[in-house]
Amino acid sequence: MPIFYDETHSFSDQQQSSAHVVVYEPLMKAIDGLTAHIAIIDIQGTIIAVNRAWRHFAEIQNLRMPNAGVGSNYLQICEQTFGRDQAAAYEVAANLRAMTVNAQDSFSLEYPCATPQRLLWFDMHATRFEANNTPYILIAHENITERKYMEMHLQEQARRFRELIEKNSDGFAIMDANATIHYENSYVTRLLGYSMEERAKHNAFELVHPDDLAYTKEQWQQILAEPGKNLRVQFRIRHHNGSWRWVEGNVINLLNDPTIGMVISSYRDITESKHAEEELYLAKNQLETILQGIADGVVVHDSAGKLYYVNTMAMTMIGCTSPAPIAGASLENVLSQFDILNEEGQIISISDLPSWHVFTKKTPAKATISLVHKITKEQHWQAIQASPILDEQGQVLLAVCIMHDMTEEKILEQRKDEFISMASHELKTPLTSLKILIGILERRIAKQKDEQYLQHLVRIDGQINTLTDLINDLLDISRIQAGKLILRKEDFDINTLVQETIENIQATTQNHAIRLQEYGHYIVMGDKNRIGQVIINLLTNAIKYSPNTNKVIVSITAPNHTPGVQVSVQDFGIGIASEHQQKIFERFYQIMEPTERTVPGLGIGLYISSEIIRRHGGRIWVTSQKGEGSTFSFFLPDAHKV
Ligand code: ADP
Repeated sequence: MPIFYDETHSFSDQQQSSAHVVVYEPLMKAIDGLTAHIAIIDIQGTIIAVNRAWRHFAEIQNLRMPNAGVGSNYLQICEQTFGRDQAAAYEVAANLRAMTVNAQDSFSLEYPCATPQRLLWFDMHATRFEANNTPYILIAHENITERKYMEMHLQEQARRFRELIEKNSDGFAIMDANATIHYENSYVTRLLGYSMEERAKHNAFELVHPDDLAYTKEQWQQILAEPGKNLRVQFRIRHHNGSWRWVEGNVINLLNDPTIGMVISSYRDITESKHAEEELYLAKNQLETILQGIADGVVVHDSAGKLYYVNTMAMTMIGCTSPAPIAGASLENVLSQFDILNEEGQIISISDLPSWHVFTKKTPAKATISLVHKITKEQHWQAIQASPILDEQGQVLLAVCIMHDMTEEKILEQRKDEFISMASHELKTPLTSLKILIGILERRIAKQKDEQYLQHLVRIDGQINTLTDLINDLLDISRIQAGKLILRKEDFDINTLVQETIENIQATTQNHAIRLQEYGHYIVMGDKNRIGQVIINLLTNAIKYSPNTNKVIVSITAPNHTPGVQVSVQDFGIGIASEHQQKIFERFYQIMEPTERTVPGLGIGLYISSEIIRRHGGRIWVTSQKGEGSTFSFFLPDAHKV
């Protein structure tokens, strides 16, 4: 509604005709001093006086009305207003009219007023009063534009803030000190199936799980006790359908904040992660129980040897009674009280352990070692199997090392070895005497020319030789076990050795023809007798295990022209299934199949052969097909062609 004025006079100016009739001079001055724009109208609506602020406003807004509207009819002006301000103007006119007929004493209205510069806001108050029994109406317009803009700005901010809270994917609740909910955003519907209205005015603890109630209430008291205090709380809350959801709330006490005066909580559903956490915890517990219960030691460490896990059995194995010294310690520290020995009894370093190999090779590794306490000299044997734990890029993160105590087996084995060694020595002495006596008897009977007796004696001598070979093999095993297999190395001609050995073996068999293929002539640096022993073993096996064929091929080659020499013995006999091919080089290993039961042997020849070759820095292996024959080969690196 427009306000009309001109730049002539204020109340104190004397041009205002009837103003003096109603208002005393001092009062007029006071009204002039007010910031509100004030006009006094009579019962017909005629403006009879305006104050300075009214005139000033008219002046700066440049509104053309004679004498700032004094003398004009305010009611008519309102009723003739068109355009944007029309509704407000009509409302003013209607209320003023009601006041003129004494139907109401006052009325107020907040209304916008468009000026060429900007939209202004006024707060209008009209009050009816009487002077000299004549009714008048005082109309005061307060320019509330700045306040209004500020209010609108705040409202807009509040709207945006509310929208932000509504659209926030997290839950948000405002509570008073009694935990009564004053506001909760729509997340509550998604989380608990309740509408925002259903939750309002309810106590926040109503839906909390009974088991979590004491804890949450205690946390709440802590929050209340300290203004500004912020706590993170996890608890279960009941869904509309009766199920329980896990939530994590971040609650802050803003009761003392003058603009808020509430407790604010943001929260989110953590049910999935909580369940996953619980499952993980359960799985970890189960695993822990299993690991602690098993009879093997389990150690997990990183590439620097830092220990991540050590189960009870492993602690016992490395002489620790409580977990404290283990946590975070390094394997090196823990093992420093021991000498680590390999199967041959040589001291090895920690980097020779299989669990170290998995970091470089990225594949499982195993070994048998013994730990000898440096002070007590107590010895414990362990079969160690290490496997890598890889990260997503395939890098080895940790090594898991399983230690199986072998001490008892090893002690038994040692006793057995000692027994074999002792028994072999005990048997060897009478055999040597027997052989001498047979020699004497042979010479006597040869003089008497008793052919039949002589034949018997020759056969007895042969049997004694077989027995001696067997005992020598057993003694060799004892020597190998004790690390006392001594090699007398010298340069020798391996082609000649192979030829002579073939001739000797050929002399013992009519069924097989042994053929030699030489692809070069080689001098080997090694123990001639021991290498000869290997060749004898391979040739006798080739004959022994090919009863239905008659050919054995021996070859001497240099594989791919690398330094060294390779000797192979090929037969066309019963062959060896692949599952046995590695194991036949182990001590006392024999293939227990019906076809082989009839063949005599102790399963030690290949073991001794492989140890002899290994101690020459070479290797021995077999390629074979079951039923089609086998080729046993050994390679000696210390050899040169001539
Ligand atoms: P043995 O005294 O039993 O022959 P070895 O150590 O020499 O002991 O051999 C171990 C086992 O390997 C034998 O028992 C046999 O089953 C198998 N074997 C060795 N050589 C051959 C071969 N040439 N053909 C088939 N099987 C063989």
